[in-house]
Amino acid sequence: MTLSNEEARGIAEAILDLKERACFCGRCFNITDSELCPVCRDPGRDASRICVVEEPSDLIVIENTRSYRGLYHVLLGTLSPLDGLTPERLKIRELLERVAQGGVEEVILATNPNTKGEATAQYLAQLLKPMNVHISRIAYGLPLGGDIEFADEVTLSKSLEGRREI
Ligand SMILES: [Zn+2]
Repeated sequence: MTLSNEEARGIAEAILDLKERACFCGRCFNITDSELCPVCRDPGRDASRICVVEEPSDLIVIENTRSYRGLYHVLLGTLSPLDGLTPERLKIRELLERVAQGGVEEVILATNPNTKGEATAQYLAQLLKPMNVHISRIAYGLPLGGDIEFADEVTLSKSLEGRREI
């Protein structure tokens, strides 16, 4: 260990500080240290599109592709009633409220292409259908049963481009 005790203490305090300040974005539930996350604060983003993901880590992976300029909505999980993850436990009501406020033209369902992710996407599609928005699902190129978090950037980029209306 080449750090002095003083340096080590400084780093530990910085991490603690970050952990204490980390909270969820008041709009999209991304992790942030202020009321709104950097994506929601960016006036250059296309507010007519919302990409729905399961976890903040999925948002980061999609951001890294640099092929998406819309906003996000993080569900903070997938539907899994047997594990107690009922619709009320996810940020579904908040998503519907955002869409109901108007100005949203497309909702992209980017939950993982596995059983729970598909079930969640279908559930959301049913709720969103009467709300007069385009609903699309990323599909192309993502391996079935796979996890967005582990998809490479080119594959994920293509699956966003090749999204299909459902
Ligand atoms: Zn946000």
